[in-house]
Parts: sequence; structure tokens; C-alpha cells
Amino acid sequence: MRKQFAVVGLGRFGGSVCKELYKMGHDVLAIDSNEDKVNEFTNFSTHTVIANATEESTLQSLGIRNFDYVIVAIGENIQSSILCTLLLKEMGVRNVWVKAQNDYHHKVLEKIGADRIVHPEKDMGIRIAQHLVSEKIIDYIELSDEYSIVELLATEKVANRSLIQLDIRAKYGCTILAFKRKEQVIVSPLPDDLIHLNDILIVIGHKNDLKRFEEEGL
Ligand code: ADP
Repeated sequence: MRKQFAVVGLGRFGGSVCKELYKMGHDVLAIDSNEDKVNEFTNFSTHTVIANATEESTLQSLGIRNFDYVIVAIGENIQSSILCTLLLKEMGVRNVWVKAQNDYHHKVLEKIGADRIVHPEKDMGIRIAQHLVSEKIIDYIELSDEYSIVELLATEKVANRSLIQLDIRAKYGCTILAFKRKEQVIVSPLPDDLIHLNDILIVIGHKNDLKRFEEEGL
């Protein structure tokens, strides 16, 4: 079933979220108080509205509580972001995802019931740094302070060997979730599946174990 999304704030972050959701075939209502911004999105959303998302009556007239997800991507103006989130939660929107500017903003959003708080610049900074320190790390997703998922490039050391031969889980405590091989994704690989040179291995585990595998196992 197609989900209904609304994106508030069409800056770089909100704009990318809006375009991507629309590209994936979802219904997206694009909201911004700036008319020029809104006009930019007429071809990249289902509906566009010029509106101030900190006005309760405006949000009500948009029927915002019927949306499955509302993404609050108001950038600089922390006060507006907080007020908008508060109104959306009070109005009963089930899933409100909000972009936070800093840790204080995050704390307030948590208190007023934001369902998910994202820090795109911070997260992307971490991912880029991980990639910079090791050519083998293609991508990195932090699951918690302790656990991550990483995409690692298969080197000569593991090429043409099977998972059972390498015994990665026993030796390093990490689990290979999938291989990416050109356009193909091999999900839940079997113990006998061979790794090819330059496959991308998607691995989950404790950060220390992942580091050990990346440094010693690859
Ligand atoms: P980014 O850092 O993701 O580029 P910006 O701060 O540039 O974010 O963009 C935030 C967007 O949110 C702007 O287009 C701005 O017009 C919009 N915005 C700010 N306040 C409101 C509001 N109260 N209602 C609706 N849109 C808003």
C-alpha cells in the first residue's frame, strides 16, 4: 500500500527526502513557507502548499493528521521546528520524524514526542570519516554506540573463499548479511557461497569486532 508522506521545509535535506519519496512512487505533500521553494517542487511531489507550518489552523486545514509520516525538515529556525513538531504530535500524527540541528534541539524534540530524530550532517560526517580512514570501508551505518553495519570491500585475502572457510563469525564475532556484486545483491549468503574479489560485504557486529575484521581479516 502506498504511504502518505508530508515534508515540512524544502531545504537541501527536506528537498532530497521529498524528491526521493516521490521517485519511489509515494504520495508526498511538500510544504514550505517560501513560495519560490514550493514552486521548485511542483514536479517532484504530489501536492505543494505554501504554508507556515507553525500555525495550528493551517496544519488542520491540510488534514495533516491523516498522513502516515510527517518529516519536519525546518533548518535553522529551531523554535519553528519545535513548535511544528509539538503541534503535529498534539494533533495525533502517528510518525513525526525531525531533523535536529544540535544536541539541545534533539533533547527538546525527544521530550515533546518526536518519533525519530535525525542528524544528517553529523551522520554523514561520521560515514565520510570512516571511509577516509580505510579504503576498505565503503559505507557505515551506526546502529547504537556499540553496534554498526559496514560495507567492506573484499580484498585478495578473502577472494575465492567461502564463508565456512573464512569462519568470520567464530573468528571475529561479526555476521555477513549480504554480498553486493555489481548490480546483484546476494542476501543471506550460504556457508558455501564464494566471495569474489571486489564484492562489497555487508557486515553487522560490534564496532570493535568490525574493526578487527577489517584490519586483520581483510
Ligand atoms: P537545509 O539545511 O536542509 O538546507 P534550510 O534551513 O535551508 O535547511 O531549509 C529549511 C526550509 O524550511 C526553508 O526552505 C524554509 O523556507 C522552510 N521553513 C522554515 N520555517 C518554516 C515554517 N514555519 N513553515 C514552513 N516552512 C518553513
